[in-house]
Amino acid sequence: MDSTDVMDLKTMDPKTNPPTRDIDHAGPRPQPMIDPFARAITYLRVSVTDRCDLRCVYCMAENMAFLPKADLLTLEELDRLCSAFVAKGVRKLRMTGGEPLVRRGVMTLFRSLSRHLQSGALDELTLTTNGTQLRKYAAELKDIGVKRINVSLDTLDADKFRAITRWGDLDKVLDGIDAAQAAGLQVKINAVALQGVNDDELPALLTWAHGRGMDLTLIEVMPLGDIGEERRIDQYLPLSMVRTRLAERFTLEDIDYRTGGPARFVRVKETGGRLGLITPLTHNFCESCNRVRLTCTGTLYMCLGQEDAADLRAPLRASEANDLLYAAIDEAIRHKPKGHDFVIDRRHKRPALGRHMSVTGG
Ligand code: SAM
Repeated sequence: MDSTDVMDLKTMDPKTNPPTRDIDHAGPRPQPMIDPFARAITYLRVSVTDRCDLRCVYCMAENMAFLPKADLLTLEELDRLCSAFVAKGVRKLRMTGGEPLVRRGVMTLFRSLSRHLQSGALDELTLTTNGTQLRKYAAELKDIGVKRINVSLDTLDADKFRAITRWGDLDKVLDGIDAAQAAGLQVKINAVALQGVNDDELPALLTWAHGRGMDLTLIEVMPLGDIGEERRIDQYLPLSMVRTRLAERFTLEDIDYRTGGPARFVRVKETGGRLGLITPLTHNFCESCNRVRLTCTGTLYMCLGQEDAADLRAPLRASEANDLLYAAIDEAIRHKPKGHDFVIDRRHKRPALGRHMSVTGG
């Protein structure tokens, strides 16, 4: 454990240092966040680290240069930032990354943030994980008040899994999922649909997930970040096509179910389970966007697919009070774009955005 983490753990101990910032105070609540298109911002995704113990080929280059640890916000600063967003109307908080469960002391952050669940200020505290650390943390997550988690898993074939993640062990993830379900966590599987990689396996993945009582959400591969050789262009598989193919084998019924995220769901009649489709490229999922994304260095991205960003670290550190921070958040929300315009650039074979998913938080 490095010195920053030790300091975080001490200062975040609620017994020695109870939270004192204004979501925890009586006092006037800051203004809710409404963007220029009248969308209320109620969902914050936080990339607590850009590091990951896997290197999925569509997400990261093999030799990724990660941020120097000194640039990271401390866990206490992340807590203060998240709490400021809760005070401004965020009802759902998702920890992501990188791999959130590889950040040292991250459970202290979860535990501290769970006070907002207890107070009723927050509806949901959750995470997106690759599952490798779930055996270790599932019971604690459940104890803290986490109810549902997303586990990313693109294949059930151990060799393919190793090839996609560059060195991952499928058994470890499956064991993590077992631990999560045994702990009483509701698990949703997220899989990126990749032409020529797992397209033939999607019906099996669906049957497996639903057979274990887990929803499955499919995601279109997005052209984010330099990953070395650009294979995503050939691997891009429109989910409209996947849906048509799945409909040849399964009865897909449109349903109204929403999780507060960008997926649209159908019920699969034969399995009784839900299938989510996240279609950033074939269908614009921006109209009802209620999300903003915070990086582990305190940069706020107003859109996954645009460069618009605001630095919140400076106002956070400039003052013990939150006034400057709230003003910076309000200014940022005034610039939230209407939507993104990802393009799969077949001609130049380059990513639409230089930023990796692991930085902004997937
Ligand atoms: N490490 C955690 C995990 O694996 O779930 C959280 C971070 S990861 C960046 C979040 C999600 O983003 C994963 O489901 C991953 O498959 C997805 N992802 C990463 N790069 C992507 C890309 N270029 N296009 C679509 N999805 C991507």
